[in-house]
Amino acid sequence: MPKAPKGQQIVDVVVPLALDQAYSYRVPAGMTLEPGDFVNVQLGQAEYTGVVWGEGNPRPGLHNRLKDVGGKLDVPPLRTPLRSFVDWVSGYTLGARGMVLRMTMRMGEHLGPARERVGVRLAGPPPKRMTPARSRVLRLLEDGMARAKSDAAQEAGVSAAVVNGLIDEGALETIVLPPDPVAELPDPDFMQPDFLDEQRAAANAARDLVTQGDYAVALIDGVTGSGKTEVYFEAVAEAIRRGKQVLIMMPEIALTAQFLDRFAERFGTRPAEWHSQVQPRKRARTWRAVADNEVKAIVGARSALFLPFADLGLIIVDEEHDQAYKQEDGIHYHARDMAVVRGSIEKIPVILSSATPSVETEVNARRGRYRRLRLPERFGGQHLPHIEAIDLKTQAPPRGRFISPRLADAVQTALERGEQALFFLNRRGYAPLTLCRACGHRFSCPNCDAWLVDHRFKRRLVCHHCGYGMPVPEACPQCAKTDTLAAVGPGVERLAEEVAALFPGKRSIVLSSDLVESVDRLREELDEVAEGHFDIVIGTQLVAKGHHFPKLNLVGIVDADLGLSNGDPRAAERTFQLLHQVAGRAGREAGRGLGFLQTHQPEHPVMRALISGDREAFYAKEIEEREKSGYPPFGRLAALIISGGDKHEAESHARKIAAAAPLDESVRVLGPAEAPLALVRGRYRFRILVKSPRAYDMSGYLRGWLAHAPKTRGTLKLEVDIDPQSFL
Ligand code: ADP
Ligand code: ZN
Repeated sequence: MPKAPKGQQIVDVVVPLALDQAYSYRVPAGMTLEPGDFVNVQLGQAEYTGVVWGEGNPRPGLHNRLKDVGGKLDVPPLRTPLRSFVDWVSGYTLGARGMVLRMTMRMGEHLGPARERVGVRLAGPPPKRMTPARSRVLRLLEDGMARAKSDAAQEAGVSAAVVNGLIDEGALETIVLPPDPVAELPDPDFMQPDFLDEQRAAANAARDLVTQGDYAVALIDGVTGSGKTEVYFEAVAEAIRRGKQVLIMMPEIALTAQFLDRFAERFGTRPAEWHSQVQPRKRARTWRAVADNEVKAIVGARSALFLPFADLGLIIVDEEHDQAYKQEDGIHYHARDMAVVRGSIEKIPVILSSATPSVETEVNARRGRYRRLRLPERFGGQHLPHIEAIDLKTQAPPRGRFISPRLADAVQTALERGEQALFFLNRRGYAPLTLCRACGHRFSCPNCDAWLVDHRFKRRLVCHHCGYGMPVPEACPQCAKTDTLAAVGPGVERLAEEVAALFPGKRSIVLSSDLVESVDRLREELDEVAEGHFDIVIGTQLVAKGHHFPKLNLVGIVDADLGLSNGDPRAAERTFQLLHQVAGRAGREAGRGLGFLQTHQPEHPVMRALISGDREAFYAKEIEEREKSGYPPFGRLAALIISGGDKHEAESHARKIAAAAPLDESVRVLGPAEAPLALVRGRYRFRILVKSPRAYDMSGYLRGWLAHAPKTRGTLKLEVDIDPQSFL
């Protein structure tokens, strides 16, 4: 029987593909490998970079059929806690382990080395022909320091040609500069605020969590402007003092803009950034700097959770209730929940922050599983805005308009006082529906079960689900009549028209994600709003949070009922959180702000809680309802979404899967039912909803079920969404 040569090592390698298992490889002579090492291996016909997951089993006979590891990469190994985290996330979400691993592998080894930066410094004798421009350059470089070529030109106020001329004549020489560091070291003591007593207590408690250095979860709970950010900065500072790394998670990239400057005011330098808008080369360098412990603080979107920290000491989840933390494609995971899991595996503290905690977190805080650090007042004794409902049943806007006279009057008064006003409407575009007045034709998406939204700034009708778009036609495609198309309902662009008519001469700006050209442009626009360049802001949820607008004192919510009736078990919670946050934009500096809710249901519990400011009553009721109906966090939910290009095929496959569900007294399997969004991107969708008690291994149940259920083929696709947040 062939035997492995004595001492020859075999390793199991996980590759970043849609596979759960690891594959065994021989370690060639002269190479030593440890778990976590990145290696190149051959799988099938292709070469992949994978990660050594452990020692392989030298089974007899197998050895000679194994391939050799192709090579070892010169990057720090994936540490044990991160590998455990990958295993955990994959086990919990039923996402393939290789795909979860892939989220940790952004080292960009295919991008090549960092681009060289060319620097210049003083070299030979001064040039024969001297000009004022040339002498400025030479004076700048007199200190003997090297500068990037472009920086030298800019600082001296000359063109690149002037610098090049000096190089050609030998007065300057070029050298290769090291790349800019991804981020400077933050200074934990750069600028400390004078905390108020309650802030001080919370800041001490947050800092102590870091000092203790164990796994623990705390919730910083306080209204917008109460100093939550300043408080968790104390924990960040303590972690940095101890040489630890800190991850600060934000739900949206747009939010990180102002945050970078806030951070710089406190720590003297900006943190590193991690999100989809970071350029690939920069991302690769950031990944490496995080693995090398060169980056101490990084702010990022949910994907930052999978970074290979060398010595992570603290995770912050800002706006922890935000639903943007849920990833809805590929691996379905909730970044806030997974942050808590990573914290427990790494044995480090996790700090959640919110003015309107998720019901899940609120329950954990009420039960003492999470420690609550409460910040009751706004900083500087400012008050929460006064909130008033405008009953649309009795105070309706004029026909074809969306702003009631009451709201228009209040805005007028605010503008006369030199304050800013915000109209909030969580709907992009001009109108959610276009129809033909002559024949009744409605414009709908050919690929989705959805109306086309009129985007008048872009002169297109667009599907918000698949991106399909068409120019607004001259004539109705059904009856061929012209001038019969009518917009139904408002979007922010239509509101802008109404605002222009109501408040002539006032400067207004529409802020909506589809109008954002770039993150940098958005940063500028937000700064312009903050500096008072606009009187009126018309915005979607893009403006709901994060940004600080000192002159804004009035918020008008144009359609407070918008999110309430979509069949989502979290609809009330979401609406409450969103409207609370939007209303909280008012009056952060200019005294007591005003919030107006235009609603058809002023007696709805969400509206009542907002008007009375009685948050606790809202949570008490919502928690009671969830408990009664067994919804999270009192029970577990999972969704199976079966989709395919053919409706009957998708439906019959969904039925077969449902029929294969193992019998279990504690589990209820509901459906399949046509999904509320039954057609998306040309795929027909059916949903199976699975409910279980909280203390039940839902993932294990699903795994057992799907192992025996019929497999998808052809265009059919099955997605597992554990802890679903969206019910569309
Ligand atoms: P939150 O995160 O709860 O919205 P912030 O931490 O952003 O609140 O604080 C709101 C504003 O008040 C910020 O401009 C912040 O710098 C300021 N602030 C809060 N507490 C203090 C303090 N103790 N001293 C000075 N400024 C403070
Ligand atoms: Zn579509």
